[in-house]
Amino acid sequence: MPKSKNMFNRFISDDKTKQGDNVPDTATLPLVHDTEHSSHSIDQRSDQPSQKTILPWDEDNSLSEYSQKLRDAGYDSVRLLATASKEEIHILTGISEEFAELIINKAKKWCDFDFQSAATILNDRSQLIHIPTGSKSLDKILGGGIEPQSITEFYGAFTTGKTQLCIQLAVNTVLELNGDVIYIDTEGSFRPERVMQICKGKNIDPNRVLERIFVGRAHNTDIQIQLTNNVIQLAKNKNIRLLICDSLTSTFRAEYVGKGALLDRQQKLNQHMRQLSRIADMLNLAVVVTNQVMSVINSFENTVVPIGGNILAHSVTHRIHFIKSSKKPAVRHAKIVASPSLPDADAAFKITETGIKDVNASNFHF
Ligand code: ADP
Ligand code: MG
Repeated sequence: MPKSKNMFNRFISDDKTKQGDNVPDTATLPLVHDTEHSSHSIDQRSDQPSQKTILPWDEDNSLSEYSQKLRDAGYDSVRLLATASKEEIHILTGISEEFAELIINKAKKWCDFDFQSAATILNDRSQLIHIPTGSKSLDKILGGGIEPQSITEFYGAFTTGKTQLCIQLAVNTVLELNGDVIYIDTEGSFRPERVMQICKGKNIDPNRVLERIFVGRAHNTDIQIQLTNNVIQLAKNKNIRLLICDSLTSTFRAEYVGKGALLDRQQKLNQHMRQLSRIADMLNLAVVVTNQVMSVINSFENTVVPIGGNILAHSVTHRIHFIKSSKKPAVRHAKIVASPSLPDADAAFKITETGIKDVNASNFHF
């Protein structure tokens, strides 16, 4: 596995340059007892607990040389370490994969993979803060906006508003949740000018927002996966509330062409989705992905379906289909297609110069 540079490094204020090997790091840690090993605490990283929390590996003499490296890489909970892959630890810390495996096995022993009562889960979920979309009717069908600790997928044809919604969500996360945003742009369609226009419409200084959206351009699947891994490190010093991948599938579609490549593509996509799901859960943030569609034309149907097959269908939490209105140019139609908690429902919204808005329902027809 080649050593890699963190591509968001220029955004990380106290980033330590990777050694590229497992030379022991002699730094010692401030010690305070860890009371929070659960992944479900709200805003668990917003007050930078990594600097004041003692973790089991700090007290394990055999790991004392590595504890600072793990901290610098963003591993600040036992569950985050226990669910890491040896490749991820190697990339983020420079620790050899062999030793990383040993660390993961120790973390698994420290971790209580325990049952929680449904009442506890309900209580935790009631504290989740959703990200508003800009359209009340879209928020309504989404159960209040974009749900944290989940993956929400918006799929649709070209120009149906997927990127516009992503940019709007990035702005809303900064303004409404006081959060930071990571935006993985695989199609080169992110436009800071749109952020400025949306802020102008709200009479807000755009610099306040632009500085908190961290954009990584992924030209291929390897970079996309690497940027995703780097989120763990970036989140160490930031209050990341939203991770966007726009689009999730375009790199996979371009690189893995033809039926012969399908198995490899799906395996890699599956791993990527598992990583996104883990990040959403462990870092308590919302993941939003967009997806392209392909046409299905046969004697039974003439329709469009999202790319990614069953692997993607089973990996995302909420699936929403965007369709352009045939009657009104700025209007888009959103339809909940699959969700464990949201009923099938439709909403309309419009794309304006100052962002996503509601449509006046009284004079609207598809
Ligand atoms: P996709 O679903 O392919 O990501 P987009 O989200 O980029 O599509 O949507 C593109 C559409 O957004 C354009 O066709 C246009 O209708 C609308 N749009 C883009 N920029 C503006 C703007 N500055 N003002 C109003 N509408 C815009
Ligand atoms: Mg787009």
